[in-house]
Order: sequence, then structure tokens, then C-alpha cells
Amino acid sequence: MPLQTVQVLALGNPAIATLLSLCFLLAWSYERAQRHLLMFCASFLIYALAASAQILQLPRDAGVNLLLSCALYLGSTLLLLRGVVARADAQFDAVPLTTLACLQLIALAYFHYADDQIAARIYILHGGIAVMLLTGVARLGKLRLGAAVDRALYWILLAFALSFVPRSALTITSAASGNADSLAHSPFWIALQLSLVLFGIVLGLALLAGAMSDVIDKLREERDTDPLTRLHNRRSFEVLAEREIPPRQGQPLSVLLCDIDHFKHINDTHGHAAGDTVLSEFGHLVLASIRHRDIAGRIGGEEFAILLPGTDVASALHLAERLRHTLETTAFEALPGTCTVTASFGVTALAAGESLDDLLTRADMLLYTAKREGRNCVAFEHNPPPAQLANSRQAA
Ligand code: GH3
Ligand code: MG
Ligand code: MG
Repeated sequence: MPLQTVQVLALGNPAIATLLSLCFLLAWSYERAQRHLLMFCASFLIYALAASAQILQLPRDAGVNLLLSCALYLGSTLLLLRGVVARADAQFDAVPLTTLACLQLIALAYFHYADDQIAARIYILHGGIAVMLLTGVARLGKLRLGAAVDRALYWILLAFALSFVPRSALTITSAASGNADSLAHSPFWIALQLSLVLFGIVLGLALLAGAMSDVIDKLREERDTDPLTRLHNRRSFEVLAEREIPPRQGQPLSVLLCDIDHFKHINDTHGHAAGDTVLSEFGHLVLASIRHRDIAGRIGGEEFAILLPGTDVASALHLAERLRHTLETTAFEALPGTCTVTASFGVTALAAGESLDDLLTRADMLLYTAKREGRNCVAFEHNPPPAQLANSRQAA
């Protein structure tokens, strides 16, 4: 039987969904670690199958068609949710959501075979999908505080979920004026389908934009992070540190330079791999000791810098002492039990009108002083001097 014009028009909907599904497949083929892209691919493809089955009325039997297309719509929604929740590292409520979908299918069958009521079927399908989507949105609260693309995705999903409320009310109003068959061919039904197409496109593009921003974030992190210590590399440290100069009105800005003592000896005695382990564990130690605002970088082989915005020399000195003491008392698995690792530190604060280069040069001179003074100590420069700590020496 030839297709009617409305059917041909309505088929644009699954065609676009199939296209988006292929886009997700392509995106996944480039970034296979992002498994949620495969879920989006499957979700859009299953949606296309559901819409096609409904539009083409295949299979012919009305009950089978209803249950098949609704099962596919629900499956597509579940996969979509699974994907967005996986991307956001949030929890997917698999058991309650799958149970809800099964109950919906049973209720749909009842309102087709036992008590034929189109309004009930519309409420059950649309209402159920809205509840599923809202459950997912509730799990994605943290996206609201994320990057622009995450925030956009959150609000699009919420709008999509809420759109099922007027959509079911409008569909029921329209259905009340005729039978299911005339509804399926009415321009109104096409308009509803078009609103779904629009949402599908916007949602699909937002998800693709999210995938793109994830890839960019990952590349940026690889560019900026030292793989051994997980701290900023030198380039990234300098870029971020430059942004803190000049400091916010009236706020101090301190820097701490640190160099592991006799590291060449550690390498020569215990092997390069053991040296790498020491560097890696020291990176963890630094990350665990600093605040979110602080910027820590590996700026040389065994040399580290920590920029401390809003911190005066006295507090920076305490941090250096804490790091020095923890390192000295840490037993490294890669080294024999008796072997200790120490480091020397230079600590100072930014002077008025000083550049990052000037600050780091002064801190480096202090570090050199600490090495000269016997290592495993902190040299600092401050006027007036803070309370003296055990292993700290104020530069003349
Ligand atoms: P000092 O107390 O004066 O700082 O002596 P040092 O031996 O620590 O300093 P030196 O500059 O002589 O040697 C630094 C060593 O750090 C030499 C280099 O092979 C080693 N090194 C640099 N990068 C890495 C790395 O990524 N892994 C390992 N295992 N060693 C590294
Ligand atoms: Mg060294
Ligand atoms: Mg060095």
C-alpha cells in the first residue's frame, strides 16, 4: 500500500533520529572509552524503530503494534537515561525504572485488550516517560553547577521531561474528538510529532556537544597534567600562576619551591622505576596537602612549585614544614625500610610590582640556600619574620 503524505512527513522524525544515532556511533568510534555514546546511539536508533513501527503501522495488528512501539519507546528512554547518568558519574536507578517500564506495558495491554481507552494509554505512556526522565534529571543535579554544555543539557532534559505533560493533555483533547486512527493521521498529531523531532534534535545536539566537550577536556587535561605526579606540568603551572598576579586587592600570594634531595642517588641506588614511584607518591602527598585554590606543579625532574593565593609566608612556611616532615617520615614501598627521602624548600611571598619570573627566581635562590644549609630544611624570606619553626632558616 503506498504511503500517505502525512506518513512520509512523519518519517522525517525517525530519519533524523537514525542520523543522530549514526553521529553517536561515529563519535564513539573515535573515543571508545566513552561507552555512554553507544547508549545514546542505541537509544536514538530504538526510538527511530519505535516511531517507524507506529507511523507505518507495522506490524499490522493494532495491539501488537501498540505494545511493540511502546516497549521500544520505553527502552529508548531507559538507554538515554543510562547514558546521561553514566556520563555524569551519577547513579542509574535500574531496578525501579525497569519495573516501572514493565508495569506500564502491562497497563497499556490492559487498556487495549480489556478496556479499550486511548486516553488512559496516552497518560500511561507519556506520564511514565515523564516520570522516568524526571527521575534521571533528579540524579543529574550536579550538572547544573558544571560547564555551560552540562547546564544546557540539564535544562534541556528537564524541559523535555516536562513537555510530556502538555503533550499528553493535548493528545487526549485531540483524541476525544475522534478515534485513534483519525488521530494518527491528523495534522495535530503531526504537529506533536514535529515537537518531538525538535526536542530530539536539540537533545541529540546537546549530547553531541557534551561528548565533544568531554574530549576537549580530556585532551586539555593530558596537555596540562604531568602523568607521573598528576600535578600541573610546568607550562600549565605558569599559565595558571600568571593569572593570580597581581593578587586580589590586599591579598598575600606566597610560593613554595621544593626539590627532592640527592634524587640522583635514589635513582642510582634503587633504580629509575623506584625513583618514579617516589615522585608519584610525592605528587599524591602534595595534592592531599593543598587547598582547591592552590596551584601545584612539577616544574622540573624532581622539582615542584606550589603557588598559594591568599596565603602569607607564615602559613606557606607551615605547609612547607608539614610536607618536609611527612616526606621525611614516609616509608616508600619501592625503597628498603631504612631508606628515607627528604626535600629542601624555598618559601617567599610576592612583593609589590613583582612578576612571576622574579618571584620564582627569588624562591629558587632560597631553595639553593636550603640545599647549602644541609638540605631537608626550609629557607624563607619574610619581613617581619614569622615564628621560627624547627627546620626553617630565614634568609639574611
Ligand atoms: P640535590 O639534593 O642537590 O637536589 O641532588 P639531586 O641528586 O636531587 O639533583 P640532581 O640535579 O643532581 O639530580 C636530579 C636527578 O633527577 C637526575 C635525574 O636523572 C633525576 N630525574 C629527573 N626526572 C626524573 C624522572 O622523571 N624519574 C626519575 N626516576 N628520575 C628523574
Ligand atoms: Mg634534587
Ligand atoms: Mg633538581
